[in-house]
Parts: sequence; C-alpha cells; structure tokens
Amino acid sequence: MSDCIFCNIIAGKIPSTRVYEDESIYAFRDISPQAPIHILVITKEHVESAAKLNVGNSHLAAKCFEAIAIIAESEGLKDGFRVITNAGKAGGQTVPHLHFHILGGKTLGEGLV
Ligand code: 5GP
Ligand code: ZN
Repeated sequence: MSDCIFCNIIAGKIPSTRVYEDESIYAFRDISPQAPIHILVITKEHVESAAKLNVGNSHLAAKCFEAIAIIAESEGLKDGFRVITNAGKAGGQTVPHLHFHILGGKTLGEGLV
C-alpha cells in the first residue's frame, strides 16, 4: 500500500535500522523506543492488524514469531522480553500494518500484562 508507512519502510523509501529480514518478514528498531531494546517485527505483505488475520494469512503471524525467537537470541534477550501487538483505535494502534513490538533490555515488571 503506497500510503502505508511500514510498506514504505519495507520498500526502502523510508529509512530504518534493519535488525532481521527474510522472504516474508522485516524487523527494525522503533524510532521512539519504549525500552532499551524496542524492535518492530512486520509482515512484508500488508495486513492491517491482528484483527485481520484469518485461515488464509495466519501463517504470517507464525513467521513473525519465528523471527521474534531469532531476534531475541541475536539481541541477547536471554533473561526475557515482552511482545505486544496493538489492534485498532481502542488498542492504541497508530500504524495500521500488522506489527509486533519486542521490548526488552530491562526488567519490565508486571504492568499491562
Ligand atoms: P503502534 O502504536 O501502531 O502499536 O506502533 C507503531 C510504532 O511505530 C510506534 O512505536 C512508533 O514509534 C513506530 N514508528 C512510527 N513511525 C515510524 C518510523 O517511521 N520509523 C520507525 N523506525 N518506527 C516508527
Ligand atoms: Zn503496509
């Protein structure tokens, strides 16, 4: 989608700090980190949010989690990390392209799950 920020990041039209990439996934550092390590894992195919996953595209969510495990290892998050996805307005989603936040590098505590 030409007006989607994350599709433009995948296309290289908006610069980003790449952390991981394969045929279906791209991961990069969040521009406004909420933890010492804050990485966004996105699908190369435009899917609006977790609310738009279905039997035809849910393999992309599985691919995201395969990438998350690889990234956690390469970032040294051996003590743990948090994965969040916001879906829709009430969920706090600001970029309508499916993405998973990896947050780590400090003890995150028990707030908000
Ligand atoms: P959401 O609020 O939709 O769950 O998360 C969107 C995330 O994308 C936010 O954490 C925000 O900082 C990040 N973000 C928005 N625009 C850009 C950008 O152009 N580059 C990078 N690296 N991150 C972005
Ligand atoms: Zn997109």
